[in-house]
Amino acid sequence: MNAPIVVQVEMNQVWRYAACAEMARFCAGLKQRRIEAMRCGGCARRYLPPRPFCGNCHLRLTEWVPVSHEGVLDAWTVVHLPILDGRTGTTRDAPYGMGLIRLDGADTTINHYLDLNDAGRLAVGLRVRAVWRDRLEGAIDDIRHFEVLP
Ligand SMILES: [Zn+2]
Repeated sequence: MNAPIVVQVEMNQVWRYAACAEMARFCAGLKQRRIEAMRCGGCARRYLPPRPFCGNCHLRLTEWVPVSHEGVLDAWTVVHLPILDGRTGTTRDAPYGMGLIRLDGADTTINHYLDLNDAGRLAVGLRVRAVWRDRLEGAIDDIRHFEVLP
């Protein structure tokens, strides 16, 4: 059996993420420290992050509803490998906590950083709250992370 061929290539890529209209409005809200979900007129499910169509009834979503900056941790993990943040180009120090957060007033979860990275202290069901950056840019990382509440 032949050894695999390894080709090392260094690539510098500049890319832009084109947000849909729903994400554009969502991000504009973040710049005002406002978090909004989209509510389905058919089944009343409230989607966060927003999306154009309901996953249950496939209706077009048009209604925006504000949600709380606090919610519950539905799932979590501690990441032990540093990743390159595609938005900032910086590497996040590991370990760090990540969570699926269901904000009060939403029926779905958003994936975001947590202030804790201790598996002994993280648990499903913990209450969390958004911690905002001082300078807001209208991006998901305007929320620095979610802090676990006592
Ligand atoms: Zn629906």
